[in-house]
Amino acid sequence: MPSSQAEPFKIKMVEKIKKIPRNEREKALERAGYNLFALNSDEVYIDLLTDSGTGAMSDEQWATLMQGDESYAGSRSYSRLKETGQEIFGHRYILPAHQGRGAERVLFPLLISEGQYVINNMHFDTTKAHVELAGGRAKNFVIPEAYDTRNYHPFKGNFDLKKLENFLQETPRDKIAFIIVTVTCNSAGGQPVSLDNIKAVFKLAKEYNLRVVFDAARFAENAYFIKRREEGQSRRSQVEIAREMFNHADAFTMSAKKDAIVNIGGLIGIKDDEELYNQVRSRLVPLEGFPTYGGLAGRDMEALATGLREGLDYDYLKYRTGQVEYLTEKLRENDVPVQYPAGGHAVFLDAAEILPQIPYHQFPAQALANALYLEAGVRGVEIGSFLLGRDPETGEQLKSPLELLRLAIPRRVYTNNHLDVVAEALINIKEYAGELTGLKFTYEPEVLRHFTARLKPVKQD
Ligand SMILES: *Cc1c(COP(=O)(O)O)cnc(C)c1O
Repeated sequence: MPSSQAEPFKIKMVEKIKKIPRNEREKALERAGYNLFALNSDEVYIDLLTDSGTGAMSDEQWATLMQGDESYAGSRSYSRLKETGQEIFGHRYILPAHQGRGAERVLFPLLISEGQYVINNMHFDTTKAHVELAGGRAKNFVIPEAYDTRNYHPFKGNFDLKKLENFLQETPRDKIAFIIVTVTCNSAGGQPVSLDNIKAVFKLAKEYNLRVVFDAARFAENAYFIKRREEGQSRRSQVEIAREMFNHADAFTMSAKKDAIVNIGGLIGIKDDEELYNQVRSRLVPLEGFPTYGGLAGRDMEALATGLREGLDYDYLKYRTGQVEYLTEKLRENDVPVQYPAGGHAVFLDAAEILPQIPYHQFPAQALANALYLEAGVRGVEIGSFLLGRDPETGEQLKSPLELLRLAIPRRVYTNNHLDVVAEALINIKEYAGELTGLKFTYEPEVLRHFTARLKPVKQD
């Protein structure tokens, strides 16, 4: 990205942020049990914990909020959302949900019988949880290149088609529920799936009479990467590409807190299966709400409909992915190891390489996250063995194939000056990385431990 590229917006409203002094950050970190989830947001200077629901809405989105129709049934705002969704995705049925996991909770139990496999390039954590809650077993088929952070591959979110085909051949049809394609593949570093790969998965699915469901949180970033990186796609618009992507899905669930740039919201789409639509609509009522609001206010549906279009804007997507690339390249130039190439929504640092002295069971990426907070007040999140947890049978700490520190970039929130602060802090940390130590538990909850666990540095024994 040329360094002279500026943001395709000007700023109409600002929110003050402040960096508290280092000694206060030290106290805050200790109080938080060395777990950044327990910090208060005003103890954080630059917050890269997540890109979910943290984006800045546009003046147009704020304006449409005022036009929200809050009718319980038959809301005008729902009609607008439905029509926008139909046009963008080409799916006949569009239903609202309060967020992505709400959509999963409604749809998945209709498609999964006890013990069936659900196939994915790589399951996102709530998606995996809803597969398992519905009695399914989650299986990942992402290409091995996804685990090799150093080497370039344009589509590290792709399915390993050979492995998928072998699995489909070997496994009785009634043991498989359906196939999910996660675009972009969040857990592999926001890495895209190529159009060719999407088409091949869909073709295979149809040969085996299986449905394809998109986990579509970052569909617009994926379409943009197809335009930029896939042969023969550069002259097509990201809107056209997105439409063709969804043509190869029977249904989708979507967290609108990502590419639709709203603070809350989700969608379920069904291409043309009227029977499935009727079942989904019935389940929606007790779980999320009447089908014309699905857990959202009318104003939320307005902002969502507007955000769906803004998230597909070319200048916006160029700026958005360019910002992630900017930080990635700045770190690479300074030999800070990161997942390469840049994904769509976050920079992923390879903490196992930066802190080789810290073993996986002392959580190198968590140690790096803490160091970055102390250095510059920046909050990221560990995606490694701390997140992965223990083997439910043996109680042994599992070893994650990657120990990553994720720095998720909220949409339209920070400028590249903020990212320069982040890069400088990480370059500084490299100088004393050899002195950093690992962490151990002082409190370890059994379920989803990474949110509430307390830790302490190993040296403090
Ligand atoms: C965020 C996300 C979800 C869950 O959506 P929520 O809105 O957080 O409930 C599901 N899948 C993927 C790929 C996501 O990124």
